[in-house]
Amino acid sequence: MTRFIAAYDTERLPGTPGTPCASDPAPSCVQACEAIVAMHRRHRMPATFFIVGQVLEASLDDFRRLLDDPLFEIASHSYSHQLLRNHPFGPPAVSPQEIREQIHRGKEVVDRAFPGRQCIGFRPAYSFVDGLCGQKQTLQWLVEAGFAYVSSMAWGPDYTLPAPLRPATSYADDGFADLAEYPCHGWHENVLKSMSKPGYWTEPRRLLAYPPLWPEAIPPKPITTAAEEFRYNSKVLVDRAKAEQVDYVTPIWHPWSLGLFDPAMEMLDLTFRYVREQGLTPTTFAEMHTQLHGAASCR
Ligand SMILES: [Zn+2]
Repeated sequence: MTRFIAAYDTERLPGTPGTPCASDPAPSCVQACEAIVAMHRRHRMPATFFIVGQVLEASLDDFRRLLDDPLFEIASHSYSHQLLRNHPFGPPAVSPQEIREQIHRGKEVVDRAFPGRQCIGFRPAYSFVDGLCGQKQTLQWLVEAGFAYVSSMAWGPDYTLPAPLRPATSYADDGFADLAEYPCHGWHENVLKSMSKPGYWTEPRRLLAYPPLWPEAIPPKPITTAAEEFRYNSKVLVDRAKAEQVDYVTPIWHPWSLGLFDPAMEMLDLTFRYVREQGLTPTTFAEMHTQLHGAASCR
């Protein structure tokens, strides 16, 4: 069985550095999530929302209304999207004390917003080629905070894209055998669109591996339509995952970017239809984790 996990890095707080301001063409995170959630409900398609604590705090009632639904898992995307380790395309990592705060406070905000729901998953900002391998203190804090899994591997070799279909693993080598790692796959869709229209991050400009991992995932020119996004990312992922019979496949999606490029969420419509047609099993990270490891403990 190959699972399909729709997952969203739910981020971007208006008016903060590096995020949209009044002149930013991207819709608000909430506005984009309205359309995303509607598409999920129409297809009865589960999803995991990794949400930034500050973004959740800023629109608490809206996110409760949208996401407090058994169809959705609510996980953490840190408190304010700071870098937990150095990354070639980002600012330097924050201090150890701030790393701890990103982890603990990020989870506390989700737990307070959605009492009775278990927040067991954490995805760090940017993600890394080798995730959080070797980051023992960070891993310790994640376990202390009550996370059962991390999803932090989202790049190919040398920080290329698309990210390969890496399978689930754990942090046993670092002494945390009970902490699972679920890599994510394909394009960071916002990066795929970075040359397509204003409003996107345009650095870095060198991203492709040679020879390409999946030649069919490399568009000959910047994409401009939802159909092209489907063709060069989610269709490739579904086809490759099915052919390689992997346990799961999960694209890397961002509400603000999906809303900017394709406000009607046609790409999601095409993807969800194709997932069903090809016989993949839609699920969430939490549900997969329970299937693989039994019920997660969560403090
Ligand atoms: Zn992010």
